[in-house]
Amino acid sequence: MRKSFAPIEMWEAVKNNNSNYDYMFYYGVKTTGVFCIPSCNSRTPLKDNVVYFRNVDEAIEKGFRPCKRCRPDLIGYNPEKKLVNEIKRLIETEYYLLKNVSSISEKIGLSKTQVYRLFREYLKFTPKEYLEKIRIEKACELLEDGILNNAEIGLEVGFASISAFYAVFRKQTGCSPGEFRD
Ligand SMILES: [Zn+2]
Repeated sequence: MRKSFAPIEMWEAVKNNNSNYDYMFYYGVKTTGVFCIPSCNSRTPLKDNVVYFRNVDEAIEKGFRPCKRCRPDLIGYNPEKKLVNEIKRLIETEYYLLKNVSSISEKIGLSKTQVYRLFREYLKFTPKEYLEKIRIEKACELLEDGILNNAEIGLEVGFASISAFYAVFRKQTGCSPGEFRD
């Protein structure tokens, strides 16, 4: 799930307190034994003293303490954020089986309202939008493969009807599947 970054990219993020990388990775400072999220306002450490971690557990295992200023441990253990990631992962892997947001909430064991609330709180899109985005991404890959026809692709990625596939496809890409293929 988590993307890995090149050390140079992580160092740039630390140096610039880039919050876009928060919780994507963590950095520890060997001389203080403290670890932080990239945007932490503590003094920029020397490059040679910095070590990187993929998650909070890894930092703690290596003997680092969470910084008192940016509290990397708090959000790292946020169970709601974990749930959101779980739902996203479910959509990414089972998009073709999930009929709608109700089938997502059933699988996760939450109500539809709760799933919508979690997305509203932590992401800038709804679960329905995310499901459609993933489906269209997969559809584009299949169109490029050129093995299935448009109608087959629509069903393959989980749309209930061809018209629904065409409508969502046009909404997201600005063209029809046929135009995309060309
Ligand atoms: Zn910090």
